[in-house]
Amino acid sequence: MPSPQEKYQAQVLAPSSGRLRPVVLHVDDDAASLLMAEGSLEDAGFDVVHAADGVQALQQFKTCEPDLIIMDAVMPVMDGFEAITHIRSNAMGAHVPILMITGLDDLDSITRAYDEGATDFLTKPINFFVLPHRIQYMLRSKRTADALRSSQAKLDNAQRIARLGHWDWNVVTNELTWSNEFGRTMGYPQNQLMGSWNGFLEKLSDDQRHSVRMAASQAVEEVRGFSVEFTLIKFSEAEQDRTIRLEAEPHVNEQGECTHLRGTMQDITERTNAQRQIHNLAYFDLVTGLPNRAQLNEQLNYALKMAKRRESKFALLFLDLDHFKQVNDTLGHDAGDDLLKQVSGRLTEVVRESDSVAVPADPLDENSNSKHTVARIGGDEFVVLLGSINRVEDAARVAERIAKTISLPYTINDTEVSVTTTIGISLYPADGQSAELLMKHADVAMYHAKEKGRNGYQFYSRGIHEQALARFSMESELKNAIENEELDLVYQPKFDVVSGQPAGVEALLRWDHPVNGAISPADFIPLAEETGLIMPLGRWVLQQACRQMKDWIDDGMEPIAMSVNCSPVQFIRGNMIKDVDEAISQSGLPSNLLEVELTESLFLQNIENGINILQSLKKIGVQISIDDFGTGFSSLSYLKRLPIDKIKIDHSFVQDLSRDPGDAAIVSAIIALSHNLNLSVVAEGVETAEQLDILRSYDCDEYQGFLASEPLSAGELLTWFESYKPEVRMRKVSGM
Ligand code: C2E
Ligand code: CA
Ligand code: CA
Repeated sequence: MPSPQEKYQAQVLAPSSGRLRPVVLHVDDDAASLLMAEGSLEDAGFDVVHAADGVQALQQFKTCEPDLIIMDAVMPVMDGFEAITHIRSNAMGAHVPILMITGLDDLDSITRAYDEGATDFLTKPINFFVLPHRIQYMLRSKRTADALRSSQAKLDNAQRIARLGHWDWNVVTNELTWSNEFGRTMGYPQNQLMGSWNGFLEKLSDDQRHSVRMAASQAVEEVRGFSVEFTLIKFSEAEQDRTIRLEAEPHVNEQGECTHLRGTMQDITERTNAQRQIHNLAYFDLVTGLPNRAQLNEQLNYALKMAKRRESKFALLFLDLDHFKQVNDTLGHDAGDDLLKQVSGRLTEVVRESDSVAVPADPLDENSNSKHTVARIGGDEFVVLLGSINRVEDAARVAERIAKTISLPYTINDTEVSVTTTIGISLYPADGQSAELLMKHADVAMYHAKEKGRNGYQFYSRGIHEQALARFSMESELKNAIENEELDLVYQPKFDVVSGQPAGVEALLRWDHPVNGAISPADFIPLAEETGLIMPLGRWVLQQACRQMKDWIDDGMEPIAMSVNCSPVQFIRGNMIKDVDEAISQSGLPSNLLEVELTESLFLQNIENGINILQSLKKIGVQISIDDFGTGFSSLSYLKRLPIDKIKIDHSFVQDLSRDPGDAAIVSAIIALSHNLNLSVVAEGVETAEQLDILRSYDCDEYQGFLASEPLSAGELLTWFESYKPEVRMRKVSGM
């Protein structure tokens, strides 16, 4: 039989893992006690290792890794309490069961033993029959605790891998408990597994907090689950914002009230990033980064839907690069890709600069504008979708700009390369009502354009093509019209409704085209506005009209106001205040005899800006009237904010005055309200005596129209005035 000493040696060398019998480390300075215990423990199936004090115990603990420790409290060198503290502070010893042996009734020692981390205690003298049983139970409960710990660790690990945490919100106490992964995601200290629901919400940004709080409180109220996603703003520069999904289910008490919300929290950043990437792969062209055919299709269907709803137009431009294949063949595919990238960059730029061709379908909502899209749909094929256009020429203008820009030289691998592009254009609704048809027709138009020689564009419909060309030639001709003295002003008088006396004249622009004859301002003013020609044109009208009135007055005519139509474009893009000032000072016309007629569209984009402009005009001393009143977006309510003198009721209301009671009601209301605001009212387009009678009965101040006079040339007007009521209107001018 081996001596205790030999046994001790054997134990020291025994491997700690994979052993059949559990190892008990017995620490006691009483050798008799050690021997007695050893006997009963060995018989019960344990291997025993001895230590005589705390220091020895720590050494033995390290070398033998015992499954359980029996520790005497009072020993020399190092007592049991201190030994336990050391063992517990070591990761290996955190969970090993320790049975503390204390003196009988020594309550202080018992309490202290538990405080230091003892698992259980026995009092001396030890009952050696009971000891093995006591130890069995301790080991059994340790195994259970180990198993639980291990499954928790597994769960924790799985959750970490899945980036999935769980949480439990006690709705009644507002307490929130959570798993490690939840804490990790939220940036809580490692050992903190509890806090308050509000504390959690505090960590979210304001708007996110609101949506999470709403979702949760609704779930509690309606006793149902919820699922929200929110962005967790990064904690440090090195991190990225995370996308988090929070899901929960309600738990109810016997009364059916929700007492807890329990759920999961998952970091789905990677998944959402991947989804975005997949989306990008599916919807964008890899070479150029432009939308691909699939996305174009969606945009096109959207444009169709919007255009149908708003009854607006849009255009589809189908582009094909000319001789792209040669670049690819001679310089290689990389060079080809480079070229495609550069082309797409230029295309995007041109289309962005052409934004002005798109008008918001709803003038009060700038966002209602359908967007333009540039897409690459094949090797060297691109499509430009102009989401909404005013006129067909807008599409032609963009096409022309594209063709010009694309044809500028490119530098690829230090080589200068040139390509051109041919463009086919289809229009909604004229050329088709479906995406397929519009694409097909733009394609067909492109082939026609190629047949005619490359680097050009072609509308699908011949009629539209010619119309666009005609507009373009008109544009260049209008440029020369001022210089060639093809422009002229005619003057239409206005009259006082009650006295019938002339109250002023309105200057109206005429273009006598050398080939096409008289062209209506309704046809060329919009073109002038769009091209910016309205600026010199408007200046010319202002100067001419002021000079004319001054001449008439000098010739002996009773002074009356000269009205000049001004486009909002002149105000918004030009320097209108200066133009008006100059026209007055150069002509010498008293400023109160100039009346500026403006339409309500000036206030469309920015009413404050419009008001500022009007105020500057008023400072110069000119009169202001709102033209075509009732046809714009106007509401009567904004009138009182405008520093104006007059409004002109649009002829469309006057036309049906005697037939349409609705129009009659509108006209009488406009007049009454304007008078309330101290504005005088002019009725336009009065053609019959009946209309005039009605206007008179409504107290309208002035009228204008074919009934009294059509627009007349300067010479005609003077004669007309002289014959109208010569004895009243003409005054004697000294020297005449
Ligand atoms: P507007 O300012 O409303 O001018 C009135 C238009 O109605 C003129 O047409 C005039 O000839 C016409 N008219 C006058 N009395 C009657 C009538 O009894 N019955 C009918 N059916 N029509 C009548 P016009 O000269 O063709 O001018 C059209 C528009 O072109 C003008 O409408 C004005 O908005 C614009 N316009 C004309 N001259 C200029 C100008 O110098 N500058 C700017 N920016 N716009 C101008
Ligand atoms: Ca007018
Ligand atoms: Ca008018």
